[in-house]
Amino acid sequence: MKGVHLKQVTKSFGNVQAIKDLNLSIKPGEFFTFLGPSGCGKTTTLRMIAGFYYPTTGHIYFDEQNVTTLQPNKRNIGMVFQNYALFPHMTVDENIAFGLKVRKMPKKEIETKVNRIREIVHLGEYGHRKINELSGGQQQRVALARALVIEPDILLLDEPLSNLDAKLREETRFEIKRIQSELGVTTIYVTHDQTEAMAMSDRIMVMENGEVKQIGTPQEIYNRPVNRFVSNFIGESNTIEAKIETVSADDITVQTKDGMRLRGKKQNVSPLAQLDREQTIYVSVRPELIQYGPGENEMVGTISFVEFTGLSAHYLVKMQNFTLKVMILNDGSPLKKVGEQIMLNIPSENLYFLGE
Ligand code: ATP
Repeated sequence: MKGVHLKQVTKSFGNVQAIKDLNLSIKPGEFFTFLGPSGCGKTTTLRMIAGFYYPTTGHIYFDEQNVTTLQPNKRNIGMVFQNYALFPHMTVDENIAFGLKVRKMPKKEIETKVNRIREIVHLGEYGHRKINELSGGQQQRVALARALVIEPDILLLDEPLSNLDAKLREETRFEIKRIQSELGVTTIYVTHDQTEAMAMSDRIMVMENGEVKQIGTPQEIYNRPVNRFVSNFIGESNTIEAKIETVSADDITVQTKDGMRLRGKKQNVSPLAQLDREQTIYVSVRPELIQYGPGENEMVGTISFVEFTGLSAHYLVKMQNFTLKVMILNDGSPLKKVGEQIMLNIPSENLYFLGE
């Protein structure tokens, strides 16, 4: 397993600047995810690491080795694409063995490696099956086995679950995570699905328009987003526009457009925010961190929407100038109704303050 380092990498296609000055260090053995909306540059970055594209400027290293313009087949990487790119009329074993045959490995050795990796991906009995006789989830595991059998230094996965239905996606994401941690291979995963990214990754890079917005563990990204884009892209979030009133050593108070005062902790201010008086700031709070009844930062609103999912109740609560999404865990008590007034409070440590 190797580390992957990108230093001031840019990539342009004609006039389109797909990647703008990317700096990134992925640790050996890490499960690292590129996350962002369509067109943000995830696949372009992955392709530069694979060697299918060369950067317009900047450098890429695997450990200390500069691989910026090295051919893909010289990089010892395994790849799984969205469509798997398997050979449909060949058997599972023939597909898995393909990369080893190309490398002219002795037959006996190929057999040992193929058998081992087939066990790891839980396809023990399926060696002689044809690809077109397998389910989508099984095909996905063949593609993974084929990428892993060459013992790559780095495994690259580009939306590998998007052809599977919801239930199978969930099962398969645990499978991929299990296999990856069993083998300890450095893995870079591309997805636009934030749940997938949160569930699988050691660290996530959130991208927008060819730029990095934040890099961190799933918890850091979810609990301490640095701006509104990250806060809204990852999970559900409320953002309320306000102006800064006072900032002390520990606390910050802001006033919303309708004159509501909210008090929070200074340690919850994004490092990117400016703290001048009267400065516009965005208060961010997760729906599950808002509580019923009186307390800190209390407010009264009118329920405009109710949804019950079993695990929790989701409400939209209309205030004068903004609407809050509120999620209350199910405790068996009756649901509130549309039109009802409700008092809410937000503990000051649950408010985050974002500059942009
Ligand atoms: P998706 O989730 O839709 O695959 P992505 O985040 O992987 O999106 P990229 O495919 O990396 O995004 O594309 C980034 C930008 O570069 C887009 O604006 C895209 O149109 C552009 N782009 C990508 N490949 C090419 C190419 N070969 N020629 C011209 N423009 C390209």
